[in-house]
Amino acid sequence: MSRPARAGSEVSVDKADSASCRIETVYGVSQLTVFSFGPNEQDNILCLSVPTEESRPLVRIQSACYTGEIFRSLDCDCHEQLDESMRRIHAGGGYFIYMLADGRGAGLLTKVRGLALGDNEGLDTYDAYVRLGVEPDPRKYARVLSVLQHIGLSKIELLTNNPRKIEALRDSGISVDRAPLQIDPTPASAQYLEAKRTKFGHLLDSSLIRGDIEGK
Ligand SMILES: [Zn+2]
Repeated sequence: MSRPARAGSEVSVDKADSASCRIETVYGVSQLTVFSFGPNEQDNILCLSVPTEESRPLVRIQSACYTGEIFRSLDCDCHEQLDESMRRIHAGGGYFIYMLADGRGAGLLTKVRGLALGDNEGLDTYDAYVRLGVEPDPRKYARVLSVLQHIGLSKIELLTNNPRKIEALRDSGISVDRAPLQIDPTPASAQYLEAKRTKFGHLLDSSLIRGDIEGK
């Protein structure tokens, strides 16, 4: 088993400040660590860890979605993905790694402009980003990789539907098995999930989405 390739030094966890505390949530108890890579909060990474004996621990890497996770907007599945991941990681151990960058790394201004294009012109999230001249999924995983290396994780079971995320980790030498994380659509989120499936290539079962689009 080869060691994961080192992340670039400018995003290395060795250069980050960090702080850690015990946190008790509705899901259970975990250790919360913040890795601060600089003055921009959106660059920082949170890691909640729950002890595990697994040689291939369960990992979720999620990037912020204030509209879905905090305000419980119905038009995406982010809160439910967070909820399901936290449940599973607290049940069997593992790591929940949270990137503070919203809008798939493009920031809230772009995200809300994109949501407005959805409202006003019916564009899905992919086409809205293209219209705004923004890469549809500009997330970079170098800081996350640096955190995984710091923890010493070279084999993981990754909760995701996103092949790009799997590829980013595999490219750095981490052995990744996928654990699917498909959330049942609501009438409001079906269009978003269908765009994730058809345009972002997410590994989603279309039969679980189509009914809600047609019934909308
Ligand atoms: Zn969301």
